[in-house]
Amino acid sequence: MALFDQHTHNRNSLPGTAIVNLPMQVLSDLQNFDPASGQLYSAGIFPLYQGDWNQAFQNLRSIIQHPQVVALGECGLDKRSKISFLQQQNFFEAQMILAEQNEKALIIHCVRAWSELLQFNRLHPAEQRRVVHGFRGKPELAHQLIEAGFYLSFGPFFNPDSLRLCPPERRLMETDDSKLTLMQVNTLQQDALDIPN
Ligand SMILES: [Zn+2]
Repeated sequence: MALFDQHTHNRNSLPGTAIVNLPMQVLSDLQNFDPASGQLYSAGIFPLYQGDWNQAFQNLRSIIQHPQVVALGECGLDKRSKISFLQQQNFFEAQMILAEQNEKALIIHCVRAWSELLQFNRLHPAEQRRVVHGFRGKPELAHQLIEAGFYLSFGPFFNPDSLRLCPPERRLMETDDSKLTLMQVNTLQQDALDIPN
């Protein structure tokens, strides 16, 4: 089976093998959007973004309709961010709704806000895929998220027990901003999966 990179910041990925996350410069000014032929993209407001969120959201509403933008994200909640948590929650909720309206997957960045994420997820049931990207959490949390319907995307750093616990149909792979190739990430994960419990 061909490997697919669910979330990467590498814009030179081979078209069709990855979802390339667009930088915030694109959401601050859509003139910076220069899609490569056949490349798949995601766009969303990163919770640590220091620019104009209203402007970014307005641009997101338009770019999300582009056929090569297949997912909304990475967006989410991050308690380390300098942006007020209230603002993050408001925009996350708006982005959850926007993803559903446009039938796009949601790629979620979540740091120390799991109960809030689960709460929003209950409030806005999804038909589209919701992916927690870069998942490094413990098995208890993995289990909770899987029960709630989420997909988990694992990168180079992960909890091996959580990886093993995640059913293959909910398990995705990503390079994110790593220098490792997807093949190398795959090898790391296969090694962890091969260890018997
Ligand atoms: Zn990322």
